[in-house]
Amino acid sequence: MVQLDNMLEVHHIKKHYQTKNGPVYAIGDISFKVEKSEFLVIVGSSGAGKTTLLRILAGLIEPTSGEIVFRGQPVVGPPRAFAVVFQDYVRSLYPWFSVHRNVELPLVNLISDRAERRSLVDQMLERVGLRSQAHKHPQELSGGQQQRVAIARALAYRPEVLIMDEPFASLDAQTRSDLEDLMLQLKRDSGMTVIFVTHDVDEAVYMGDRILVLSRSPSTIATTVATSLPLPRDQITTKALPAFSAARTAVLTAIREQSSA
Ligand code: ADP
Repeated sequence: MVQLDNMLEVHHIKKHYQTKNGPVYAIGDISFKVEKSEFLVIVGSSGAGKTTLLRILAGLIEPTSGEIVFRGQPVVGPPRAFAVVFQDYVRSLYPWFSVHRNVELPLVNLISDRAERRSLVDQMLERVGLRSQAHKHPQELSGGQQQRVAIARALAYRPEVLIMDEPFASLDAQTRSDLEDLMLQLKRDSGMTVIFVTHDVDEAVYMGDRILVLSRSPSTIATTVATSLPLPRDQITTKALPAFSAARTAVLTAIREQSSA
């Protein structure tokens, strides 16, 4: 019997890659469930299998064994209801198309009415503060602006689940904080479910409702930390709360235990 609250279920995922030097065991055995509208963050050291796990969740690669179930159905390819934002915004946008066209492209087969489609793109660019830049090409924008385009493109698609792989890792601190706040706001407005990978423990605690800490590869879930921080969040006051420090300490301790294990 499928529980409605559990939108996404991960059942005993294992993954090893076959290489010419033999198998690389990336994911040992991972199971968890994600509730509708949850903001789930996954952290773990480099090489722990975070990107592998996200790619399996998104239906982009197959696990060696185990199953992903979305709304009661096994995931066997990229579901229509999912969108993915990667760290590498430079490679994720088409340099020869305008910002507007980049956001519009995934919608071409979904919304046949051109005026309706363009209006949705305008709305999304407005939401990420780029309406006035719509005619430019991605390379004319800053890194933070390009990542906003990638976010607008993912949101215009109106995903039920947004998967983000270290989306702000290569941005400066101020841009990163701005985009964290923008993402929290957009997530609250849309009610979508977000699965977000980051290296940054402060970012994990600030953004997440729940944080999964992965062990070293072949990874398992070492610890789960639930945060109970009030919404809306604020970069200064939220991070000064005792609950923020407690969650941060719990995550850092789990990561340290893994690196010395
Ligand atoms: P993370 O995102 O946590 O840094 P990855 O998922 O990228 O971890 O990698 C987990 C492990 O799997 C690492 O040992 C990595 O070298 C290996 N790996 C990842 N992708 C491949 C691949 N396509 N072929 C072989 N090994 C891979």
